[in-house]
Amino acid sequence: MMTKDMTSALRTKKQYIEGLSKMRRNIYFDGHLIDRTDELQMDTVNTIGFTFDAAQDPKYQDLMLAKSHLTGKTINRFTHIHQNKEDLHKKQDMTRALCQQVGGCIQRCMGIDGTNACNAVSYEADKQNNGATEYHKNFLKWLEKFQDGDMVGCCAQTDVKGDRMKRPHQQKDPDAYVRIIERKSDGIVVQGCKVHNSEASVADEIIVVPTRALTPEEKDWAVAFAIPADWEGVKQVVTIHNLRERKHYKKGFMQGATDSYTIFDKCFIPWERVFLAGETTHGGVAALLFALFHRHSYSGCKPAIGDLTIGTVALAAEYNGIAKAGHVREKLAELIMVTELGYAAGFTASEMGKPEVYMPGVGFVPYGPGSYVPNSIYCNVGRCLTGENVYREAEILCDIAGGVPATFPHERDFLNPETGDLLKKYTMRNPDIKVDNAIKFWMHVGDILCSASGGISQVGGYHGGGSPVMEQIAITTQYNIQEKKDLAKHIAGIED
Ligand SMILES: Cc1cc2nc3c(=O)[nH]c(=O)nc-3n(C[C@H](O)[C@H](O)[C@H](O)COP(=O)(O)OP(=O)(O)OC[C@H]3O[C@@H](n4cnc5c(N)ncnc54)[C@H](O)[C@@H]3O)c2cc1C
Repeated sequence: MMTKDMTSALRTKKQYIEGLSKMRRNIYFDGHLIDRTDELQMDTVNTIGFTFDAAQDPKYQDLMLAKSHLTGKTINRFTHIHQNKEDLHKKQDMTRALCQQVGGCIQRCMGIDGTNACNAVSYEADKQNNGATEYHKNFLKWLEKFQDGDMVGCCAQTDVKGDRMKRPHQQKDPDAYVRIIERKSDGIVVQGCKVHNSEASVADEIIVVPTRALTPEEKDWAVAFAIPADWEGVKQVVTIHNLRERKHYKKGFMQGATDSYTIFDKCFIPWERVFLAGETTHGGVAALLFALFHRHSYSGCKPAIGDLTIGTVALAAEYNGIAKAGHVREKLAELIMVTELGYAAGFTASEMGKPEVYMPGVGFVPYGPGSYVPNSIYCNVGRCLTGENVYREAEILCDIAGGVPATFPHERDFLNPETGDLLKKYTMRNPDIKVDNAIKFWMHVGDILCSASGGISQVGGYHGGGSPVMEQIAITTQYNIQEKKDLAKHIAGIED
């Protein structure tokens, strides 16, 4: 008989999938209710599944495994609360390593980013309430289960937001931002819809945080909680991003992704799952903190996508026989600079990590129970730089690849005896490259540049974690520009 290792809380990919198969059906796709383990979702499940496989693989364990500060058990890093700078470094490096292997977003970072935000915010809100609330106790109880179950969390932050120029309490429909519609002795009832929730359709838990800073009259919108993804009162309408299926010219990894509209319809949340309910200042910090942790995750995933882009551009040049051309070198250098600067920004953010956050109008202050927060300026600088370069990177690949990825024939045309050999003959460019490899390569470039998944990934790379303007606002409000003005005045000889 197998005995459970009480010092470890790791699940296998198989156990994760079994868990999904037992969940209540509340996922809608293209007019139908589907199972979480529906064939359509399996590329995404396999992508997240890699986070379980990697935790069992000695090659990745230094990055993948952490020690729970609650139980001392060995846990998957995706369920960990950052205890020090080392944890921040490892999270960044883990994200880069995994994204490289699955060929894009690893999908599980929303959980670690949401939990780290709720950890700090629930603690501070209780402190403000002088013990009248138990948000942090609720959170820690929930976290222990989350870690012990090696659960996949997604983060539902982005609200539909209605009229962009109006605040939550000014909206014609107050449900434009998820809000509390009733407070009861045993919990709260919430209503609204969070959008673009990555991997919510294959997550065990949904972590909900506000989307923006809130004013004192917006108590009902200052709400954070976590519930199972199949909770009563929750409907998910999902979009599924799969690549074109290939049977013969198979890819090394078939990456998949999903994003949900998560609708909360008079949804009851018991108090033990509530981490914030009315504390507007901390609601704003929750929004800021999730975004900050998530921008730090981008300093791992965007460099990984950069790594893959650099490799793909270099191969495109080689397959086209132009590897030695001057403009190829220039473009590769550009890609390397953005990729490694994005990584360097995240590294610095980890190295300068502290248990503190930026409070508007106050500056950086100690915040939370001592858990670590990456430096905000460097997280924002890195995310903005790499996010804004998403389309430039695609442009470079498009340039070096030429038009072939857009019009490349489908797989079965290469297998059809009437067209296969002819197509192979006309696919040949560089005599040193085997034609079957060239076929796989141009299909892969088509996946990146011309597929629905490729397009979605670009929009995600640009807006995910916050549109560039959000990072620009964070950078300019938090940076000490006055100090720089004083420096400039000193050199200019200005005294006032
Ligand atoms: C693929 C993908 C995955 C994502 N995954 C997640 C996820 O897992 N969880 C999650 O919570 N979110 C997720 N997001 C959401 C992402 O964080 C948002 O898309 C981003 O914050 C921008 O918000 P928005 O889409 O509502 O765009 P908007 O905010 O509507 O932005 C559109 C434009 O309007 C401008 N704008 C908006 N408000 C104002 C204003 N008041 N004044 C002036 N200009 C304004 C913006 O700067 C931008 O130029 C994901 C997004 C994508 C595309």
